[in-house]
Amino acid sequence: MSEATPAGRMPVLFVGHGSPMNAIEENRWSRGFRDLAALLPRPKAVLAISAHWYVAGTFTTGNVRPGTLHDFGGFPEPLHRIRYPAPGSPELARRAVKRIGEGRASVRDDWGLDHGTWSVLLHVWPEADVPVVQLSIDGRLSPPEHLAIGRALAPLRDEGVLLLGSGNVTHNLGHAFTAWRTGDSATPAWASDFDERVARAFEAHDDGILLRALETDEGRSAHPTPDHYLPLLYVAGAARPEDAVRFPITGFDMGSLSMRSILLGGVP
Ligand code: ZN
Repeated sequence: MSEATPAGRMPVLFVGHGSPMNAIEENRWSRGFRDLAALLPRPKAVLAISAHWYVAGTFTTGNVRPGTLHDFGGFPEPLHRIRYPAPGSPELARRAVKRIGEGRASVRDDWGLDHGTWSVLLHVWPEADVPVVQLSIDGRLSPPEHLAIGRALAPLRDEGVLLLGSGNVTHNLGHAFTAWRTGDSATPAWASDFDERVARAFEAHDDGILLRALETDEGRSAHPTPDHYLPLLYVAGAARPEDAVRFPITGFDMGSLSMRSILLGGVP
């Protein structure tokens, strides 16, 4: 039997961040990011799991004032000038490490906010007044281990923390750039099938499908590398069976890049 969502429990959110240009372009995706604000209670802080902090270890950012990282190349100057001066929260960084387990995670101050985080949050909270901590993704861990970290972090939802996974449900940049160059915006079946499978798995709260998704043919096409998929496992781990599931943003950019966002829980 499902219980009602207790008042005050934060939802869990996955966003497909797509191109860094969404930070400064007025388009379908940036409008979608802005509209997310109306669906979210104002959190005390955000714990962001970004595809772009994919390293050998599980770390949280302990900076009081995390810098804005321009972790990309070949984009126009205005994008490099963007700053997202949200404060950090060393206290939350330590609390998250404690939840994951000392020895399994640690606090570092040599990262900041990468574009997986700020290219979205600058639309959601343009005032940059919600503290943000990032959590890295340890590329050495297995899918169940990523899910388990999400599970360990789930209680933070009852402490006013928004857990935010930022990646893309499908992310094959080779295909996306070819499509962009040739102007062919058709979505291949492997992309729409994989996107659909992930959506249905979230609706059914079926972690088993999500844990094995990359082993399928579509999974290999959708994710030549797993970095943009793995934030989904943290989000799934932090979700509860009674969480309502919504998809505030759907669709594809550059043919095969799923921009689906997934919102679990929150206002019933
Ligand atoms: Zn990315």
